[in-house]
Amino acid sequence: MYPDVSLYIDGGWSRGAAGRTIPVLNPATAEPIGAVAHAEQSDLDRALAAAERGFKTWRKVSAFDRYKIMRKAADNLRARAEDIARIMTQEQGKPLAQARMEVLAGGDLIDWFSEEGRRAYGRIVPARADGIYQLVIKEPVGPVAAFTPWNFPVNQAVRKISLALAAGCSIIIKGPEETPGSCAELVRAYADAGVPSGVVNLVFGVPAEVSEYLIPHPVIRKISFTGSTAVGKHLAMLAGKYMKRATMELGGHAPAIVFADADIDAAAKLLSANKYRNAGQVCVSPTRMLVQEPVYESFLDKFIAHTKAVRVGDGMDEKVQMGPLAHARRVEAMEGFVADAVQKGGKLRTGGKRIGNKGYFFEPTVLTDVPRDARIMNEEPFGPVALIAPFKDFDGAVEEANRLPYGLAAYAYTRSAKTAAAIGSAIESGMVSINHHGLALPEVPFGGVKDSGYGSEGGSEAIEAYLNTKFVTQIGI
Ligand code: NAD
Repeated sequence: MYPDVSLYIDGGWSRGAAGRTIPVLNPATAEPIGAVAHAEQSDLDRALAAAERGFKTWRKVSAFDRYKIMRKAADNLRARAEDIARIMTQEQGKPLAQARMEVLAGGDLIDWFSEEGRRAYGRIVPARADGIYQLVIKEPVGPVAAFTPWNFPVNQAVRKISLALAAGCSIIIKGPEETPGSCAELVRAYADAGVPSGVVNLVFGVPAEVSEYLIPHPVIRKISFTGSTAVGKHLAMLAGKYMKRATMELGGHAPAIVFADADIDAAAKLLSANKYRNAGQVCVSPTRMLVQEPVYESFLDKFIAHTKAVRVGDGMDEKVQMGPLAHARRVEAMEGFVADAVQKGGKLRTGGKRIGNKGYFFEPTVLTDVPRDARIMNEEPFGPVALIAPFKDFDGAVEEANRLPYGLAAYAYTRSAKTAAAIGSAIESGMVSINHHGLALPEVPFGGVKDSGYGSEGGSEAIEAYLNTKFVTQIGI
């Protein structure tokens, strides 16, 4: 049922040079289901040499031909969606329906970015003298090193691989060791579509060792990382030291502001569904529900009712709405956050405990009255815990929303067009979604500000980070 996962270097699948492997666990049982190959330094050297050669080949392939190969990769992904989703649920825990959706959305992302590659236009700048042509040309930045996490094993990797390929770059991707199988199937979809050897390479290992080796390496010209703010800051520092371009998709602590004039039923339903999606292990997960005083109690009751109704279990069961957390570290983190919040005066309204003693299940949890100095009010919970607090007026809500150094996603609910416009402008955040949850589509920007990082891996902005701008001026002789 679960494949052993290999490295993919220079067009071939292989074990690491020393034959070492890392076990892969099913978070629903905490039992091993397979193993992933562990790269040695010599494997990284092979990947670097392959990426250097792959770049020379791929940059000469026309944008139109790159597009055709990428569209085939998207079709491969769609055709294999069911099998890949089953691999993902076994290794990551999310319900099968969410895994399927992620794989199918991967196809849409490849389509979008493949098309963007064909639109990587330059321009001609009018000259000051006759006969001079001033050309602005977009060129691929070069071999990319990308680091992708376990919460969306396909979605995070597909953005980086597709952007690199669309721009004409090669890429070495360090996939997630906890959830390597579905990420490897994504790479297989590209390989089977005819991407030449060396253009896409996949490695696994000890994340810090791989990044410290790849980022400074002269072959690598660009870094892209999705993960925690702490690791992102470290990698951005390394990228800066070695003058590498970098895109950082980091953590968030999304505020969701519910004004008194909002549709409270819709707000409670949508926010709870989005809170517990992927067991809250989502960088844009709504975390601080800020609710205007007159509707606070009514929102709280409805949100808690939805929370209690969430069906938790093994994601392979089609009836399940929330699976286990992805690994033991998250369960320990949730226990620590809840204990700290309660000890500081927070009220546990529902949930708050690990479920059973097999696998990494945690109850969907609601906390209220949590003081600002509690850890969970400041650190990204990255789990199924909702914080609900009342606010008096617009300024109070904005002050709390902007209090943290994060700025990834924010949500608001109101029936007033005036309030919607004002909140959209007042919140310090890369993305604001009002009265619905409409983030992360291929054609819209995706990225944060402040400690949530920089750069966008969605929309028409995204490909820019994988391109250099070259200026050529010429005169006919
Ligand atoms: P972590 O910070 O150790 O790891 C997060 C991710 O970064 C993992 O994929 C890991 O493999 C990678 N990583 C860690 N150190 C690295 C290094 N030195 N070089 C390269 N990659 C490195 O934490 P974790 O326990 O795996 O996850 C918990 C935290 O990570 C969460 O609290 C959340 O904030 C964050 N996270 C964010 C996202 C996101 O989508 N932004 C995804 C996964 C995890």
